[in-house]
Amino acid sequence: MLKRLQVVWPQTAILILSTVVGTAIASRLLPLNGLFGQTISPSTNQQIQRTNTDSSVDIENPASWQTNPGLSQTIGQWEQEIESQMLNWPSPKRFQGKIFKEVKLKDNRKVFALTFDDGPQLHTTAQILDILKRNKVKGTFFIIGRNLKAYPQVGQRIVAEGHAIANHTWSHSYRKFSGPGAAREIDDTTALIYKITGMKTDLFRPPGGFLGNGPAGYAKGKNYAVVMWSADSNDWKRLSAHALVNNITSQAGPGGIALMHDGGGDRSATVKALPYIIANLKKRGYEFVTVPELLDLAERQHRAQPAVKSKPVKPAADRSTPKKK
Ligand SMILES: [Zn+2]
Repeated sequence: MLKRLQVVWPQTAILILSTVVGTAIASRLLPLNGLFGQTISPSTNQQIQRTNTDSSVDIENPASWQTNPGLSQTIGQWEQEIESQMLNWPSPKRFQGKIFKEVKLKDNRKVFALTFDDGPQLHTTAQILDILKRNKVKGTFFIIGRNLKAYPQVGQRIVAEGHAIANHTWSHSYRKFSGPGAAREIDDTTALIYKITGMKTDLFRPPGGFLGNGPAGYAKGKNYAVVMWSADSNDWKRLSAHALVNNITSQAGPGGIALMHDGGGDRSATVKALPYIIANLKKRGYEFVTVPELLDLAERQHRAQPAVKSKPVKPAADRSTPKKK
């Protein structure tokens, strides 16, 4: 857990937070003395005490922290921030370098991931973000690097509002790439996402779903999780909003991943359909998760019972006719 943070967070932040927050998380997830197999050192205790203004809180007894609203609130906020960082990067090892279209959970829990490709766009992405916010739903945005360069503030809003942001190449071309060309498509996009949003991503979705023209192969080799989909809105076909709602809701299942678009053309039907898609699935008992959350849930269940398996897809069958995705 802390190893991940050390890469993402500046060292100074680690120094301050690793003692207090690390202990707080450890106390929740493990017996207090279980982290790193050692007891809390006196220096750790001192740092906690400096943060803690309420002398009634017993450092050795995490349960008592709950009775100190100020401290537990602060720790709660830090935990949330760390959680959101951790949930985006890196993906659990089992998913790195793998291609999947859905991730069934062991308990067949009704979780579902909405994903939006080809943005950010100035207006459509904002409309979709508004709808997600209104419905308290988090999604995953597979962005095109050159679009993020054009609309960095939209990319920042995606992340600020708690959504996941992921790689959909720099140029969204279906052509065959050379090795260095494919590398640039992936690396430049991931680097820009980090530069603009502070988020690292190792999630990749190939434009058009093509797995054989270079970028997907490069991404796999670099241990990206290659995220396909199990419910296709087909919104690129300019269908009616009604048809889009039907396409997603009829294909939705536990652990499913929906494909929609916030970029690449007129997406007014997608914007119109989205509230109905959300309402339908909520009514059927689904909870919405980002792709990183979905992988994290699967990983937790896998650790609890190693027999759990995700459902990989075979490197499919590149489509004979290029599709706009
Ligand atoms: Zn696309």
